[in-house]
Amino acid sequence: MAVVDDIRDVVGASNVRTGDDLADCGAGIVVAPLSTEEVAAVVRICRRNEVPVVPQGGRTGLVGGSISRPGEIVLSTARMNRIERLDPLERVALVGAGVTLETLQEAALEHRLEPGIDLAARGSATIGGMVSTNAGGVMAFRNGVMRHRVLGLEAVLADGSLYCDLTRVVKNSAGYDLKHLFIGAEGTLGIVTRVVVKLDPSPRATATALFGLPSVEAALRIIRLALESDAGHLRAAEAMWTSYFSLAAAAHEWSEPSVPLDQPLFLLLSLGGAREEAMREDFERIYLETVQQYPDATGIIAASRRQEDDLWRLREDTGVLYRAHPDAPSFDVSVPLSEISAYLERIIPGLAAIESGLAPYVFGHLADGNLHIVLNRRGPLAPPIAKAVEDVLYQQLRQIGGSFSAEHGVGSKRIHSLLATADPTKLAAMERVKRALDDQSIMNPEKVLPCDAWFVRSCSPLPSGNERRLPLKNASDLNDE
Ligand SMILES: Cc1cc2nc3c(=O)[nH]c(=O)nc-3n(C[C@H](O)[C@H](O)[C@H](O)COP(=O)(O)OP(=O)(O)OC[C@H]3O[C@@H](n4cnc5c(N)ncnc54)[C@H](O)[C@@H]3O)c2cc1C
Repeated sequence: MAVVDDIRDVVGASNVRTGDDLADCGAGIVVAPLSTEEVAAVVRICRRNEVPVVPQGGRTGLVGGSISRPGEIVLSTARMNRIERLDPLERVALVGAGVTLETLQEAALEHRLEPGIDLAARGSATIGGMVSTNAGGVMAFRNGVMRHRVLGLEAVLADGSLYCDLTRVVKNSAGYDLKHLFIGAEGTLGIVTRVVVKLDPSPRATATALFGLPSVEAALRIIRLALESDAGHLRAAEAMWTSYFSLAAAAHEWSEPSVPLDQPLFLLLSLGGAREEAMREDFERIYLETVQQYPDATGIIAASRRQEDDLWRLREDTGVLYRAHPDAPSFDVSVPLSEISAYLERIIPGLAAIESGLAPYVFGHLADGNLHIVLNRRGPLAPPIAKAVEDVLYQQLRQIGGSFSAEHGVGSKRIHSLLATADPTKLAAMERVKRALDDQSIMNPEKVLPCDAWFVRSCSPLPSGNERRLPLKNASDLNDE
């Protein structure tokens, strides 16, 4: 095929995989460029030949953003994995899009710094992928999401031109801050090639505690107490409701007499500071204040690094859910903190009313109201059941100031939810931006926004003329991530 030959000429034959060695990839061709220039050259070839490009980082995304189909080319950033600069005085790193979060964390730690963002997929998730999904994670309530950690970025646009804004400073009010267009765009507006990430000092010590609590209110109160700690700063506040926690504890054979498993809610807290002992003492103070108001509260403070790791494994090994319920349907909502109790009180009976025994496992980043909800069913659900479930979970979310997609994005799996819930003016503006930057729709098509005509008609009148849409592929050709 001429396109493949042209691409081989750019990146070298050994960096183009086709055929049988790609059993897990619908596209049938995976290209791994080394540099921005090679990415731009590949994109130009794709544009000339009207071939869609699907950017791919660590493939840990949870909404089908990097799935590919026949006729498309996957562009992997795996070889763009160099930390080009890490300046401890500026507290800034310039990295290739394919650098994994863990690699950046380890390099920063050598200078007692950290990227200020963390998530369980750190070993595979790439900075380019995290920028593109606007990833959140456990520290978002404190440090913001990926958008707030990026000072500058470089991206190859659909016409092969280069958007280059490798600003290394926090303050930059010189016109529209267009980097934000690419952050959270899931590869639909361009391919992120290099990123400038802000770093923060990492604490000398951490302390971890687990509390068993009667209610969300009790958990929010503890978070408030921990935020006021003089001994350290709160780094994580992860909630696990009882059905999830029991499953995780059983899977890891974890038990602790001082934390019986019959509490409604478990809260994992982490403090970072100068002295571990002082932070542990502060956890004791927080516990004593809590039991005065909630006598049923229980708790344990990790006494060693190993105990800390054991507690974190309970939260991070969410694979236990998918081992129990293969392909279980999962959701990722944001709910304002004061609405979480009412939300759960509504959705639990709402789900049970759809089907007897249908129930959610709930866990997530409580300090910013991000709840992950996984159903106790093998997936996928039959379409009418899936629709009823989304009606229950997403009802009123926007009106109360929440979101149906907190940190995972839209990808290919949540397009219908975006169309169903987003403000029409926002949808129309999104489509105009997409058209302005990618008039042929070759950048990760059918992700975030659909390409089909009804959407175009319903959202915005199109200028007549140059538009040309790539033919839609059969949905059954889609591969899952
Ligand atoms: C166990 C587990 C825990 C997780 N925890 C969290 C969490 O706490 N918080 C959170 O936010 N997410 C979490 N995720 C989701 C996932 O890790 C993030 O979405 C991550 O940002 C994806 O990075 P990736 O490199 O794997 O991207 P991929 O999955 O490869 O791609 C994701 C999307 O970004 C696009 N993309 C990738 N690289 C580029 C690029 N260079 N330029 C343009 N587009 C690109 C792809 O086309 C796709 O649309 C978790 C996932 C797992 C499996």
